[in-house]
Amino acid sequence: MIVLANDGISKKGIKLLEKNGFEVLTTKVAQEQLANYINANDVSVLLVRSATKVTKDIIDDCPSLKVIGRGGVGMDNIEVDYARSQGKNVISTPASSAESVAELVFAHLFSGARFLHDSNRNMPLEGDSNFNGLKKAYANGVELRGKTLGIIGFGRIGKEVARIGLGLGMKVIASDKFVGDAEIKVDFYNGQFINVKIKTEPLEDILKHADFLTLHVPAQENGYIIDEAEFELMKENVGIINASRGGIINEVALLKALDNEKVLFAGLDVFEEEPTPAVQVLMHPKISLTPHIGAATQEAQERISIELAQQIIGLLPA
Ligand code: NAD
Repeated sequence: MIVLANDGISKKGIKLLEKNGFEVLTTKVAQEQLANYINANDVSVLLVRSATKVTKDIIDDCPSLKVIGRGGVGMDNIEVDYARSQGKNVISTPASSAESVAELVFAHLFSGARFLHDSNRNMPLEGDSNFNGLKKAYANGVELRGKTLGIIGFGRIGKEVARIGLGLGMKVIASDKFVGDAEIKVDFYNGQFINVKIKTEPLEDILKHADFLTLHVPAQENGYIIDEAEFELMKENVGIINASRGGIINEVALLKALDNEKVLFAGLDVFEEEPTPAVQVLMHPKISLTPHIGAATQEAQERISIELAQQIIGLLPA
């Protein structure tokens, strides 16, 4: 059987599939050619990440397709319900990228707290002519240890963020629409661990008490979670990170809060307009930026490929 991994797949997953009798194609087929390619090659499994769209037309036009797989979380690019109604299996790997996204959150937090993002922009330009000026500009950093980290959305990634935050000595508070209590296992390299119980609180309390905020909720249907009113509730000089989905924070309200010095810095991995984020966001000196790479570590891509391969082997035994 043929597997087309249209947005790429790690070697370990390919090897596992091949060992079980599958042929894996890693050609990147353009969206408009996809249905033809699937039919011409009798593809049974289509694997995508976030780039390729699995539309109703593809589902209708490709009778050979049995499994549609998303490497990662969030299936906004797949017509999931329609595919399932047409008898296709739709699979994903929701747990495999939690650690990678959580680490990126802390990359942005550390960066923002010590102005690394802006220093990295200005040192190449002025580092030799204005070293002392830059030293003064970036001298007023803050530490994470001992501060309160507010996590909005306490699912898989939110809990991973909590684990790292606790390990750093932060006070962790969280809010979630559905999750109540959670026990976070903070484990160490030598097998030792401690369990920390966290009881979620109303969003308003998190907004009022957090020194740093990070969002880990799915794409929302009813507008922004963080808009002007929510920025009003926050502490002065809060740092805020969004590595969940664009459209959760109102970017116009964020820019205003940064300019008013209500918010000290923001870290964004996701944007309202992807893949063409607003220039005002890209150019803002108080925003640490990454191009939606939360799940893009070698380790996560490996876990994703193995998890997909195992599910495919289970669904389509040779
Ligand atoms: P999850 O389903 O495990 O957790 C999401 C949590 O959000 C759930 O507990 C849910 O109850 C809660 N929630 C939903 N709506 C809420 C609301 N309005 N207020 C408060 N809580 C709410 O999902 P996850 O695996 O932790 O992923 C979280 C987000 O991260 C998703 O948007 C996902 O698409 C995104 N993500 C981003 C990247 C990246 O590359 N940056 C990678 C993976 C996942």
